[in-house]
Amino acid sequence: MPGHVTRFAPSPTGRLHLGHAFSALTAWNIAENSGGKFELRIEDIDTGRSRPEFEAAILEDLAWLGLRWPKPLWRQSARLPAYATALERLKVTGLVYPCTCSRRDITAALSAPQEGAADFDGPVYPGTCRGRRDAPPGAAWRLDLAAAIARLGGPQALAQLVMRETGPVAPGVHALDAEALIAEVGDVVLARKDIGTSYHLAVVVDDAAQGISHVVRGADLMVATPLHRLLQALFGYPVPVWHHHRLIRDESGRRLAKRDQARALATLREEGATPADIRAMLGLRTAAVRA
Ligand code: GLU
Ligand code: ZN
Repeated sequence: MPGHVTRFAPSPTGRLHLGHAFSALTAWNIAENSGGKFELRIEDIDTGRSRPEFEAAILEDLAWLGLRWPKPLWRQSARLPAYATALERLKVTGLVYPCTCSRRDITAALSAPQEGAADFDGPVYPGTCRGRRDAPPGAAWRLDLAAAIARLGGPQALAQLVMRETGPVAPGVHALDAEALIAEVGDVVLARKDIGTSYHLAVVVDDAAQGISHVVRGADLMVATPLHRLLQALFGYPVPVWHHHRLIRDESGRRLAKRDQARALATLREEGATPADIRAMLGLRTAAVRA
């Protein structure tokens, strides 16, 4: 069996903290232990929030941790044509529709490029624009979920589409559930009007293009996996294994956020921590010394 190909996919919207280090090192270890490959992907499609200086800091922090990745650097901002091509495939098969509902509505459904924000706990889109056949300029494009489920053969066929999960949160083989998708995910935006794509579309296109065999990320993103699995089926992409890891929390049990300066890797480094200390703080064994 070939080695696992994993990735760390940070959004350059802040400094890395211990939670990111855990994610990156977990992905690195899974690749390393299988004789595979670790990929880095900068998820900088959210141009309003991404900053080159954060990208530079992320690269510095990861290199300091001892991680290496293939060159040239994979940036989502350079991949917009690939996302447009994928969207076009959904357009010609009638699985997306244009939506001009309010910005606020769209932002709520679309907050995923933010850290851990692939939670669909906003209201499921009510389908106001479903069935539209025009293509107004400046529209967002939403997945017609019911049409997509039908295209894949209906709820029973969908239940044959499985997700293999090796992470500690819910290990095992899970099946897609049409009812749950409709109730919890709904007609999500696949292309924002400002950037022509979304977190979900970009991540699915890129995981396939980068040949990712094991998607390693925080348990907060687990909720996005059924949608990603469905998109992979629609596109005929290879299906990765998922490994959702636990989240690193502060003393009060809250998930770390980019505002937690105290746990920023840069701060810990300035205070004298070594990469081995970081691994120890995270309960990860020290990297084997490589010849
Ligand atoms: N860019 C996303 C984040 O920073 C991670 C996406 C993923 O791992 O699927 O939360
Ligand atoms: Zn609409």
